[in-house]
Amino acid sequence: SSFGPANRIERSEETHPLTWRLRDDGQPVWLEEYQQKNGYAAARKALREMAAADIVNTVKDSGLKGRGGAGFPTGVKWSLMPADESLNIRYLLCNADEMEPNTWKDRLLMEQLPHLLIEGMLISARALKAYRGYIFLRGEYVDAARHLKRAVAEAEAAGLLGRNIMGSGFDFELFVHTGAGRYICGEETALINSLEGRRANPRAKPPFPAAVGVWGKPTCVNNVETLCNVPAIVGNGVEWYTSLARPESGDHGTKMMGFSGKVKNPGIWELPFGISARELFEDYAGGMRDGYTLKCWQPGGAGTGFLLPEHLDALMYSGGVAEYGTRMGTGLALAVDNTVNMVSLLRNMEEFFARESCGWCTPCRDGLPWSVKTLRALERGEGRPEDLEVLARIVDFLGPGKTFCAHAPGAVEPLGSAIKYFRQEFEAGVDRSARTRPTTEFVKA
Ligand code: NAD
Repeated sequence: SSFGPANRIERSEETHPLTWRLRDDGQPVWLEEYQQKNGYAAARKALREMAAADIVNTVKDSGLKGRGGAGFPTGVKWSLMPADESLNIRYLLCNADEMEPNTWKDRLLMEQLPHLLIEGMLISARALKAYRGYIFLRGEYVDAARHLKRAVAEAEAAGLLGRNIMGSGFDFELFVHTGAGRYICGEETALINSLEGRRANPRAKPPFPAAVGVWGKPTCVNNVETLCNVPAIVGNGVEWYTSLARPESGDHGTKMMGFSGKVKNPGIWELPFGISARELFEDYAGGMRDGYTLKCWQPGGAGTGFLLPEHLDALMYSGGVAEYGTRMGTGLALAVDNTVNMVSLLRNMEEFFARESCGWCTPCRDGLPWSVKTLRALERGEGRPEDLEVLARIVDFLGPGKTFCAHAPGAVEPLGSAIKYFRQEFEAGVDRSARTRPTTEFVKA
């Protein structure tokens, strides 16, 4: 697949640890070419020259944070795996169930650089003493599945997976497992249930997967992009890695960032943490297409809050975006143009979140369809005067800490911010002639 000429930027090994090996024709980099481009050199170093604890400490010192959206420090997660060697069954699980609307960074990496993920998993497995790994892949990613399976076979044939890898005595087998295309499977404990053949309901945390994961065994779950950072960190060192981000950033390394919507060059680029959203929007995405203006934007997926054009000064790293009251999420931004009605946009988003709720806990199961029903009425201009209050209460009831997992809080974050910045568009959907009815009636979307 091709991601368009506008998305080709100058890349070098020094500045673009994830993407410098990409081909200009968008074709996958298979083993021979990957090795010509220094591929598996970091794995050789990790397996032959480094103790497992040294690899963990290197990743910890690098400040690498999870790239799935939550940004939990990877080295800390790794050190939570039990040190007890007698617990020798442990798993490394790659979360490749990328399904956040507008987010397709892991897809690009897996389709075009499958060996980068395999090398990242091999080094990480060595660090975690995990002898088996799974890539849990979104079902719709058929090209990524094909490319990963072929790359795994190439690596097995070359002795880069399997027994006694590179003569180091380390064994690692890796499986590609495709999901059935449900958003909730990306929640790490739902993912574990799904992998085990169960219904994809999230599990209670704690215990975290590091203690009780796949088949009850210690399991480390990391996102694709996170694991793809590991070879460069181990190969080139912490000092180099921490120099990649802009000095004003609190995060280290680079990040796959992007912009979609009616921008001139929708796309995805590997950029240093700490660039401003304005740079991303204007210099890389080219600003809005002729005839459109920017109404608002989301920094990193449907589960992040809307920001206004003046908030483009936000620096793209977790703390930088947090200053403006939302999260960086996946870093793949969405531009909303002036033709979009916010009630319709939110109705569409909440329909998605309501459909993808696993239905396990009440606020999420009933609250999200309630928001859909309310938004549909406002969209038709048949809303009740109290509907804005209903939506505000749903945003509150489904917020962080009130549900089993992060699905509902993510679903209401855009709703809360849309009402905050565009209240008049929601109020315009209220039918002032309607009689006020109680808000406590049971509703189903
Ligand atoms: P989270 O903050 O609960 O956890 C993040 C990671 O840190 C998990 O692996 C968790 O096990 C670990 N963790 C957190 N606290 C811990 C502790 N005290 N001890 C040990 N480990 C700990 O968030 P989450 O529910 O995993 O993810 C939510 C995020 O997912 C959202 O921010 C959203 O942006 C993102 N998301 C991404 C996609 C996608 O397709 N990439 C889709 C939906 C949501």
